[in-house]
Amino acid sequence: MTDNVKLNEIALAAEAALAEQFRLIDETAFVNTKKVMDAFREHKVSEAHFAGTSGYGYDDKGRDTLDKIYADVFGTEAAFVRHNIVNGTHALAIGLYALLRPGDVMLSITGKPYDTLDEVIGISGEAGNGSLRDFGVEYRQCELGEDFVPLLSDKRIKVVFIQRSKGYMNRRTLSSAEINNMIARVRAVSDAYVVVDNCYGEFTDTTEPNADLIIGSLIKNPGGGMAETGAYLAGSAKACELAGYRLTSVGVGLECGASLDTNKSMYKGFFYAPHTVAQALKTALFAAYIFEELGYDVEPRWNESRHDIIQAIKLGSPDALCAFCRGIQAGSPVDAYVTPEPWEMPGYSDKVIMAAGTFTQGASIELSADGPLRAPYTAFFQGGLTYESGKIGILSASEAVMALGK
Ligand SMILES: *Cc1c(COP(=O)(O)O)cnc(C)c1O
Repeated sequence: MTDNVKLNEIALAAEAALAEQFRLIDETAFVNTKKVMDAFREHKVSEAHFAGTSGYGYDDKGRDTLDKIYADVFGTEAAFVRHNIVNGTHALAIGLYALLRPGDVMLSITGKPYDTLDEVIGISGEAGNGSLRDFGVEYRQCELGEDFVPLLSDKRIKVVFIQRSKGYMNRRTLSSAEINNMIARVRAVSDAYVVVDNCYGEFTDTTEPNADLIIGSLIKNPGGGMAETGAYLAGSAKACELAGYRLTSVGVGLECGASLDTNKSMYKGFFYAPHTVAQALKTALFAAYIFEELGYDVEPRWNESRHDIIQAIKLGSPDALCAFCRGIQAGSPVDAYVTPEPWEMPGYSDKVIMAAGTFTQGASIELSADGPLRAPYTAFFQGGLTYESGKIGILSASEAVMALGK
């Protein structure tokens, strides 16, 4: 049997096996789309909301209404969404600096946070650079699964931090329900704020975590592949007010901040987001099935529950990892002719190879993959704006890996 015939057979079997899960994903997308559309109707979204403001940006109707829509859809008291929050890390830093004061303690109860927060917290980086640690905020952590309740007896703990997605770590991704259980246990014994890094999780469940702040990037799930840049914070009125002060300045808060001409893409992106997340989830399931059939360990497996859009595939050799990323790149809508090469990245000890043929630079709701060149040579991939294009990317990656003749 030629590789092509074999791959076709596996792809057909994949879609037959995945039919029921695809249906459940569509159901989640329907429930979430209904929430978004109900909020749009409730807030009387119209052409006028798409117009931007300049200068101070007072009375930016589009911006202020989108904030309320995010709050309604995510089930929070308040929210804000801004194009000038540059990425997820920036949004998380805004949330943490907003709530923590000198002498306070931040406790992460899901292990070490995402790498880019190391310097924000002061786990790494130079003294004097303005990290939380520089400002006298102490950091503690316990691993996911450890009993965190006894640790909360320390009243200096002001922020309890939870990361929803496994990110690029070797741990489970948490569902909203699991996070809400953890939050209830925190609140039973502590007045600390609970902050959730919600990146990659939005709209994979029918509810979002019920924290004091949930935080995420618009070039991931909630931007729906339409938002050009930006991030959101949502949660209690108090925490959002403090975060607004940190975003701009104390006193100014959320009253200023011209939206320029970004409103429409953020509305349209939020409208698309539940559907786009469904496309990315289907692409991930399809890949999990195919690569397992090809003999690779995948995480999660195709029939396991999912609460984020990340798929890990252990490719076992540098050649296979590079072939996978090159195949993804060749199966992308933009820069498909480019050949990714492994390169040294600041802050990483091993070379990293990346594939990103995306419309929006670095957008990981679009099909994208990367992996450090070290054993077990795992590719992490996510996204796919449409299932059809995601499938094309995965088939291209499969062909490239099969051509190595494992
Ligand atoms: C993407 C991500 C972030 C933020 O990363 P940016 O690249 O700054 O947007 C934080 N935490 C997790 C789990 C993420 O996936």
